[in-house]
Amino acid sequence: MVNKLPLLIDGEFIESNSKDYLEVTNPLSQEVLCEVPCASRDEVDKAVSSAAKAFVSWKETPPPERARLMMEYQFLLKRNQEELAEILSKENGKTFEDAKGDVWRGIEVVEQAANISPMLMGETLENVAKEIDSYSYTQPLGVCAGITPFNFPAMIPLWMFPMAIACGNTFVLKPSEQDPMTPNRLAELFIEAGAPKGLLQVIHGTKEQVDQVLTHKDIKAISFVGSVPVGQYIYKTGTDNLKRVQAFAGAKNHMVVMPDADKQRTIDNLVGASVGAAGQRCMAISVAIFVGESKNWIEDVKTEMQKVSPGSWDSPESGYGPLISKAAKDRVLSLIEKGKSEAKCLLDGSECKVNDYPEGNWVGPTLFSEVKTDSEIYKTEIFGPVLLAINVETLEEAIDLVNANPYGNGTSIFTSSGRSARKYRHEIEVGQVGINIPIPVPLPFFSFTGWKGSFYGDLHAYGKQAVRFYTETKTVTERWFQGGDSEGANLTIKLK
Ligand code: NAD
Repeated sequence: MVNKLPLLIDGEFIESNSKDYLEVTNPLSQEVLCEVPCASRDEVDKAVSSAAKAFVSWKETPPPERARLMMEYQFLLKRNQEELAEILSKENGKTFEDAKGDVWRGIEVVEQAANISPMLMGETLENVAKEIDSYSYTQPLGVCAGITPFNFPAMIPLWMFPMAIACGNTFVLKPSEQDPMTPNRLAELFIEAGAPKGLLQVIHGTKEQVDQVLTHKDIKAISFVGSVPVGQYIYKTGTDNLKRVQAFAGAKNHMVVMPDADKQRTIDNLVGASVGAAGQRCMAISVAIFVGESKNWIEDVKTEMQKVSPGSWDSPESGYGPLISKAAKDRVLSLIEKGKSEAKCLLDGSECKVNDYPEGNWVGPTLFSEVKTDSEIYKTEIFGPVLLAINVETLEEAIDLVNANPYGNGTSIFTSSGRSARKYRHEIEVGQVGINIPIPVPLPFFSFTGWKGSFYGDLHAYGKQAVRFYTETKTVTERWFQGGDSEGANLTIKLK
């Protein structure tokens, strides 16, 4: 019998009373790994009210004590990194090395959360007016919620609940229904680390459960990571319901290849960044802009791409794994088909087969050249192992092209010229910029957010910056009078 994945409500892992279950399949073989419930309305309500109840005492828990919970959690995550990565690989398809990286990038955020106290400190200024001082505190919001995508089932939930909870909030997580086993295991370890009952709730489901979260009167803030249309919907609906919302959305990331770059390193990095993780990364490079004579390297890019073979997560030979689902594969194949009428297809991965896994959701490395910016393949986030090549004559043209794109999550330039690198860094309208680094995901003490259509809402979104999202600031202005001083009636500060 197939295992039914539990919900985490009020400190207990419980079997849902929902009749509505979805199958979670192994993308290598279509084997059903478990069934995930779509939580009932009643269960979502119970999760939120348990989180609201837990907030009453958790917000009074001293920050160093909250930090200690995160230290313990960090220790358990590290100890169980390989086990988590194995669960993750099986349900998501990514290679074991990639899955370990997914867990590790989440652990780094937990480390940040374990240092919460200094990040929560307010500010003070004496004598804002004569004998009057001002200072500010940060205070938690209440119940916060997170809605996460399939492509980083460890890292992205860990972007959210550890920071929110370390700030003194409680949290309701709605992970992707496509790979929910990893988030459930993260939640088990959080309980094992000693998390008091109710701090974290895990409800499963799809749009209906998300809608309940978006409109729930007791949820104060919502963090979302996922595709552009859903991100826009979450932002609009969440803010219409007067909630604080941060929505990380999709992307179309460009790498600019200058003719003075180190050729082999550039090609190796470009191939890894475009087809790695089957292109299912929001920071994957999906467009390469070849400047001037570097266009002559496109054939070499093709040769390197042909050497990458997809395969199963546990084979060290695998360059990447299958796509998450049959539906995702069909979508990518139809875009490749469309691309054949819009550009020149130099390498076609549509017929990809992998020995031993005939049922896997395979798409081979695919390369298009002579791509136009008004084509469907350029305008759409393909989210598969597909690279588009565009040629331009100058760096200025490359910058204009990237800046005209509606998205701005990540970008990179490969060059040996400090001057070109500096110009690119300064003029480019993208949130994460790599210079001779293809996927520049910053550590959590830096900011990580997309620009333009890749992000909606509050920019204090990730790691250390997330403290601003998950707290209110209270500013106090005070003065103390000597006994019997009748001036105390008037607190107006006179500005001269
Ligand atoms: P998705 O938008 O389909 O799903 C994300 C979450 O939203 C899931 O939990 C899902 O259940 C829920 N959801 C789906 N449809 C919904 C609807 N109509 N109403 C309400 N909720 C809904 O995204 P995905 O396919 O799981 O993830 C891939 C996308 O995420 C890509 O576009 C990728 O670029 C993006 N992403 C962005 C970042 C970033 O940092 N900007 C990071 C990772 C992934």
